[in-house]
Amino acid sequence: MIRTVKDLDIKGKRIIMRVDFNVPMKEGAVQDETRITAAIPTIDYILSQGVQSLTLMSHLGDPSKDTKKAKEKAEKDGKTFDEEKHVREKHRMAPVSEYLSKKLGKTVVFGGEDGCFGKKSLIDSQPSGTIVMLENTRFHKEETSKDSSERDVLARELASYGDIFVNDAFGTAHRDHASTASIAKFVPVSVAGFLMAKEVNYLEPIVMNPEKPLVAIIGGAKVSSKIAVLESLLKNASALIIGGGMAYTFLKAQGYGVGKSLIENDQLDTAKSILKAAERTGTQILLPVDHLGAETFDAQAEAHAIDTVAIPDSYMAMDVGPKTLESYEKVILGAKTVAWNGPVGVFEFPNFAKGTKAVAELVAKATKAGAITVVGGGDSVAAVNMFGLASQMSHVSTGGGASLELLEGKKLPGIEVCRKERT
Ligand code: AMP
Repeated sequence: MIRTVKDLDIKGKRIIMRVDFNVPMKEGAVQDETRITAAIPTIDYILSQGVQSLTLMSHLGDPSKDTKKAKEKAEKDGKTFDEEKHVREKHRMAPVSEYLSKKLGKTVVFGGEDGCFGKKSLIDSQPSGTIVMLENTRFHKEETSKDSSERDVLARELASYGDIFVNDAFGTAHRDHASTASIAKFVPVSVAGFLMAKEVNYLEPIVMNPEKPLVAIIGGAKVSSKIAVLESLLKNASALIIGGGMAYTFLKAQGYGVGKSLIENDQLDTAKSILKAAERTGTQILLPVDHLGAETFDAQAEAHAIDTVAIPDSYMAMDVGPKTLESYEKVILGAKTVAWNGPVGVFEFPNFAKGTKAVAELVAKATKAGAITVVGGGDSVAAVNMFGLASQMSHVSTGGGASLELLEGKKLPGIEVCRKERT
């Protein structure tokens, strides 16, 4: 179990909290508030405890990398590039601070555009219960530096703003950065916020000690990005459903014709070794047995039913077919835990969304029947949201990379610091 802010007496304390306010921005305006609202329960709780101050910090895009990319693109398109405007509209935290203030109906003091250093007196001179929002942490190269002593320079400064570090930024929990992990070396105690705790409490047991039977549904484009998660889930899963683009590398590895489907030829051996490992663990593997195909990868392409495992040369498989979906039903509905990462078809194209929608409906049904169902990873989350089924899952993760790494069984720096007390 991870320790949370509820496990401490925080009255009168100064809190320094990492949030994930890396929200999409356009022309200096917040485009989607999901990540802001996700942190509000922790913020509300902290304020309700009568703290001295609550200082929030987050990154907002990566100013140096993103700006370089945007500049190169403008140059390529023959357009002029206003760097200052780009940074102001995309990476400055002031508009996010204002947005949060409106959302909370409470003043949020913005720390200033000059960055995150030298803010102790500003924070400590505020009336009790003030919220301060710091500028984008990634304006400082120390935030993401590979050199830990360099990260420590910023971490030590941020630590001086609080007596307690609260990490609620699950989306960046897999990053070993100054504001997500190094800071914990310099504050007496570090704990998780409620969002972080919820994520960990749903995702970690899937790898450590799931309620069995565990059924894993792994889809998405590429085998290469899912090898570690497949290997990790195999250990406990009674069944592994492999769908999406990656399924066709497995079918090719088994000797089936795959037509023009997405294939990673350099992963054929990996696919074979995963199938072998499943034999050893006694895990049932469900690969597509029929498909919906298209002649071209196109949003308007017509769906052509392919009733065999093998795919004719002129088609690429874009979605799973009805017989495959039938084979999923019993398996998913028989599960006590379902872990889902990645769509089973090109769900962004309406003609090929049927399979992923049916999977979402089956997982929702499993939830109703009492299973713990967890959806992690950007695209499957987008899919359940698109089908309006997110509320029917036990948990929909807010962190793509972080949730994948947890399911891979890795220790995440931003989570591990919430378990330890500084001695
Ligand atoms: P990932 O980010 O690896 O989870 O991949 C998600 C992407 O996989 C989505 O954009 C889907 O459109 C894509 N995808 C799913 N099924 C297929 C398929 N059969 N062929 C090509 N791409 C697919």
